[in-house]
Amino acid sequence: MSFSEIVGQEEAVRVLRGALASGHVSHAYLFYGPPGTGKSLTADIFARAINCELGGDDSCDRCSSCLRSMHGNHPDVHVLAPGSEKGENVGIQQMREMRSDVYLRPRLGRRKVYIVPEADRLSPPACHTVLKTLEEPPPYVTIILIAPDLAEILPTVISRCQLIRFTPEPLDVVQAALVKRGIPEETAALAAAYCEGRVGAAMRFAGDPVFLSRRTKVLDILSSAGSAPRAVALKLAEDLQKLASQKGKSGAELPEPANISAEQEAAPDREAGYAGPEAASGKADLQSVVDIALSWYRDLLVVRELGADGPLRNRDRLKELQQLAAELSAPKIQDVLEFLTQARYYLERNANPRLVFEQLMLKIMPGW
Ligand SMILES: [Zn+2]
Repeated sequence: MSFSEIVGQEEAVRVLRGALASGHVSHAYLFYGPPGTGKSLTADIFARAINCELGGDDSCDRCSSCLRSMHGNHPDVHVLAPGSEKGENVGIQQMREMRSDVYLRPRLGRRKVYIVPEADRLSPPACHTVLKTLEEPPPYVTIILIAPDLAEILPTVISRCQLIRFTPEPLDVVQAALVKRGIPEETAALAAAYCEGRVGAAMRFAGDPVFLSRRTKVLDILSSAGSAPRAVALKLAEDLQKLASQKGKSGAELPEPANISAEQEAAPDREAGYAGPEAASGKADLQSVVDIALSWYRDLLVVRELGADGPLRNRDRLKELQQLAAELSAPKIQDVLEFLTQARYYLERNANPRLVFEQLMLKIMPGW
């Protein structure tokens, strides 16, 4: 995949291709923008193009340098994701490796490229090591930091990087791109809206039948729960938890694939003993159920405040949203949204999912 195939992100692509064409590739870039907007993909293409044997302003994806990069075995291209360490240790080992490795000249290519996904997770000591590297980079080094938000990055790091911003695209652009890749029109529209114009996220969403059906079922439960008697609500809580245990390829809200390290994926299983057998479903799957619920209650607020023309993520369920929004007060909706935000936090820290979903159902029911 080359720059010419990226959907949208024209400004980012223009700047990067310009640097390649003029031969003025910077020592450090910071790619920032919401998850699923193509930061990792663009970083991969840029790294290939920098060392492409054709030497143009794009990757050819056919020369031996491009092929090595695509297979993850180019000796001059390194992806250094922070692993599953905790606290002060997050990313410290990887950043130290980079600090010593930069002084070895490129083995095959023109430049050594280091891609650091999830740079926002780096601990202060790891950031300090990055800073030291950025202060005196050898002329052949390019470091690409990736983060969702500038607010998460030290100002001293930001000031040493060229900033490349990634933004969501208009929904019709995303929808057209999905249809072009063979996704049915209806699914494409749904994915574009649900993922709020984030192309990469929408592609993963549209290509994941488990997630698509999970969303439908979660919304079915939420839209019927308001009028359910208490016993039924508790049964629905159980159903929600079961939905989370069906394995999806990926939740649409997960980080971009390149950002998920093997350690992170293994983490929920390793810690299953702590939270008991209920934690058997992966954290990411539990979170995706909560994210679907968040999208639903956020939509209810949008319908209340802006009407049917507001930016709805679940536009295909407009009728139900309008009906429910008329029944619920704004403070009640905000109350549930607040609970869901907390639920996300607690599930991340191994709270018992059954209890969390039961509490959610009781919150949704009238009179609580
Ligand atoms: Zn090439």
